[in-house]
Amino acid sequence: MAAPVVTRFAPTPSGPLHVGHLLAAAQARRLADEQGGRCLLRIEDIDVTRSRSREWVELMYEDLAWLGLHFDGEVMVQSERFGVYGAALEQLRTAGLLYPCFCTRSEIKAQIAEMGRAPHSSLGYLYPGTCRNLPPDVVAERLARGDAHAWRIDMQRVQDLIGCPEWVDLHRGTQRSVPTEYGDVVLARKEMPASYHLAVVVDDAAQGVTHVTRGEDLFDATHIHRALQAVLRLPVPLYAHHGLLRDNSGKRLAKRDGARSLASLRAAGYTPRAVRDSLTAALANGGIWQV
Ligand code: GLU
Repeated sequence: MAAPVVTRFAPTPSGPLHVGHLLAAAQARRLADEQGGRCLLRIEDIDVTRSRSREWVELMYEDLAWLGLHFDGEVMVQSERFGVYGAALEQLRTAGLLYPCFCTRSEIKAQIAEMGRAPHSSLGYLYPGTCRNLPPDVVAERLARGDAHAWRIDMQRVQDLIGCPEWVDLHRGTQRSVPTEYGDVVLARKEMPASYHLAVVVDDAAQGVTHVTRGEDLFDATHIHRALQAVLRLPVPLYAHHGLLRDNSGKRLAKRDGARSLASLRAAGYTPRAVRDSLTAALANGGIWQV
């Protein structure tokens, strides 16, 4: 018998929930319900520099209750799990896959400009690898001095180790992750002891998630996640990246479109039913949100 389906809704509390979140939550809930599975909730509040996240989490619970969206089991809260992420980092460090990077953002920009090309990916700039092969005595000295640094993963070593592993998107079919494609991403830094990429793969495994539903803006990030799953020896879920909601001009709805926050729709007198019907109408209309 196939393992029971487990999906999750994993919002980042960086503002009030908006209709894009509703879509993500509804997709996760629906897939679980269709398969007789469970849909879990995870609060992705690893960015402790965001001072208002507690407030947004409270509002989020209100919005979800108002909409009648429920989740199964215990809520996972990432800000309570830094020890777990630290252990995963240690595993990668011991395997010789991490290195400290002392470059500031402006130094990286200058390095990229000097190279005379713009090594960008859909996920931002590609780190040019400046600190990848610093002499060990320099690294030791700078660490001992307490120089600010981030921990990056050496994707060339990862690729040498695991090759280019496959993953499956239920809408787009089998994909192949090329670990070096997005460069040596940051997995931790002082003010953020675990990056999104690290926390998400550790937590999807810890929650036993079998199907990851999320917006297609995270499609490319899944290549990175697949590589991390391989080196951390974590199970690989199936993925279903869904289209994003857009306004009438075809522009992606963004968080700053305050009018589309669930709280503002609620305040304007919309019923949960009306908001859900608007979502159904948008999905029938190529993702164009009309309200
Ligand atoms: N926390 C992310 C967000 O709110 C979603 C992460 C995911 O689904 O993997 O955009």
